[in-house]
Amino acid sequence: SNEVAYSFVVFGASGRLALSRIFPALWQLYRDNRLPQATKIFTFCRTKLELKTFRIKCVPYMGLERDRDPILYNSFWSNVHCCDGQYDNPEHYANLTAAMVRQEKRHDMRFANRIFYLALPPVVFDQVTLNIARKCLSATGWNHVVLEKPFARNDITYKVYQTQLCQTFKESQIYMIDHYLSRQVIHNMFVLRFTNLIWADTWNNKHIAAIMISVKTELPVQARAEYFNQFGIIRDVMTNHMMQLVAMLAIEQPYSSNVEDMRDEKLKVLKQVLNVDMSDVLLGQYCNNGRESDPVKVGYTQHSYIPKDSLTPTFAMVVLHINSKRWRSVPFILRVGKALNETKTEVRVQYKSTDCNHSGSSSSIPNELVLRLSPREQLFMRMMQKRPGPHMCLRETELDLILRDRALPINYQALLLDIFAGNQMMFMRTDEQCEIWRIFSPVLAAIEYERTKPILYDFGSCGPMAAYEMAARHGFKFYQSDEWHASRGN
Ligand code: NAP
Repeated sequence: SNEVAYSFVVFGASGRLALSRIFPALWQLYRDNRLPQATKIFTFCRTKLELKTFRIKCVPYMGLERDRDPILYNSFWSNVHCCDGQYDNPEHYANLTAAMVRQEKRHDMRFANRIFYLALPPVVFDQVTLNIARKCLSATGWNHVVLEKPFARNDITYKVYQTQLCQTFKESQIYMIDHYLSRQVIHNMFVLRFTNLIWADTWNNKHIAAIMISVKTELPVQARAEYFNQFGIIRDVMTNHMMQLVAMLAIEQPYSSNVEDMRDEKLKVLKQVLNVDMSDVLLGQYCNNGRESDPVKVGYTQHSYIPKDSLTPTFAMVVLHINSKRWRSVPFILRVGKALNETKTEVRVQYKSTDCNHSGSSSSIPNELVLRLSPREQLFMRMMQKRPGPHMCLRETELDLILRDRALPINYQALLLDIFAGNQMMFMRTDEQCEIWRIFSPVLAAIEYERTKPILYDFGSCGPMAAYEMAARHGFKFYQSDEWHASRGN
C-alpha cells in the first residue's frame, strides 16, 4: 500500500560486499522498477562518507555508464542517506533511527518496515545486533535482519551466535543469505525431481552411484586473506554453500510449498548426514608450479599476506554419507579448491552403469545429470544414443534441460526482493546451520589438533591426484570428455 515506508540499512557500507554486490543490486532493482515505492537506503559505518564520495566509490560496480539512465540514476541516489557511527555506541544508532524516522515522517507514512543488512565482519556481530534491538526497531511494521557467512567457526561458537541472534529476532525476521540458493538452476532441479516420473523414480540409491559437488576456482587467495587463513576452505565454502546444495539434492518432497515445510525437510536430511570419518577427508594447499612469472600466481605460503608456515587448506574433498533409505550407500563427494585449472561450480549426479557393451563399438557411459551454477547456469543429462550410419556405434549426447529467461532478476537482486517480500524460502533457518556444524566441527577440530598437513598441488593444476583416487574409490568415474583428461593434455 502507499502508506508503507521501507528503510534498507547497510551496515559496513564502506566494505567490499556492500560496494560490489548490495548497491549494484539495489540500483538494478530500482532501475527496473522492482523496489517497493518509498524505499530509502541508509548506510552505516565508521568511515565518514559523504553521499558524493560514497557514490563515486560505487561507480566501478554499477555497470556501464551507457546503461545508467542519468535521470533515473540520480533519482536512485536521491534515496540514499549516509550515516556514520561506531558499532558499539548506542547513540549513533539512535541518530540512524532519527534519520529513518525523518524520511518516514516526511512522506507521512503510517507503517515503517525496516531491513538491517549486516555487511560486516563477525567481530562486531554481537554489538550490532544488540544495538539494533535497543535503538532501531520499527514498532509500526516488520524488521528483517540479513546475515552473511561466516556463521561462526564451529558448533560451540555457533551456539553463542544463534542464542544472541534469537534473543533479538524471531526466526521469521532472520535472513541468513546463501546466494547459491537463489540460482534458477537449483529451483529447476527441485521441480524436475518431483514432477517427472523418470527422475522421481530414479532419484535414489537403486539407480544413482555417486554424487559429486565441485566448487573450483582459478583464483588464488587475495581479498580477505586474513579471514581465509583463519577459516580455511572447509569453513569458507563447504559449511554453507555446499551443504545447502547437499540438502537441496537429497531432500524428500516437502509436505507443502510452505516455507517451514521446506526447511523442516532440509533439516531432516541434514540430520541424517553421518559424522565424517577422517579417512573421508583430504586437504590440499597450492604451491608454486615453477612456471609462472606472475607474482600473484605463487604458492599459498609465498603470498606476502599469508604466514610462511600456514597449514590452512585451499583445497578439500570430503565424502558424506546419508543414513536414509533413499541415500544409503550413495557417497556425496564434496570438492572445493582455489588456484585450480578452471573456474566452475557444478553438481554431477552419476547414475549406475547399464550392462550394455556391444563388442567392437565404443562403450557406453552411465547417465549423468549435470547441474552447473557457474560460469553459466546449465542443466543437462548425459545420455547415450546410436551414432548415425550402418554400424552399431554409440555416441554421447546431452539432453538440455535449462530454460533461459533473461528477464529474471539474478542472485543478489532476487535475494533482496525476497527480503522485501518476506519470502524466506531460499534462506536457511538457524537450526540448519546447527546441524551443519554438528557434521563438520569434529573434523575441523581434529585437523587443527593434529596439525594435518595439506597435500601440495601446483598452482593452476586440477588439484591433488589423491583426490581423484579418493573419488574413484567411492565409485565416482571420470570419463573421456571430462576435465580429468582435458586437463592432462591427453
Ligand atoms: P569488509 O570489507 O572486511 O568489512 C566491511 C566493513 O566493516 C568495512 O568497510 C569496515 O567499515 C567494517 N569493519 C571491517 N573490519 C572491522 C573491524 N575489525 N571492526 C569493526 N568494523 C570493521 O567485509 P566485506 O567483504 O564487505 O564482507 C562483509 C561480510 O560479508 C563479512 O562477514 C564477510 O565474511 C561476508 N561475505 C563477504 C563476501 C564478499 O564477497 N566480500 C562474500 C560472502 C560473505 P568501517 O570501518 O567503515 O566501519
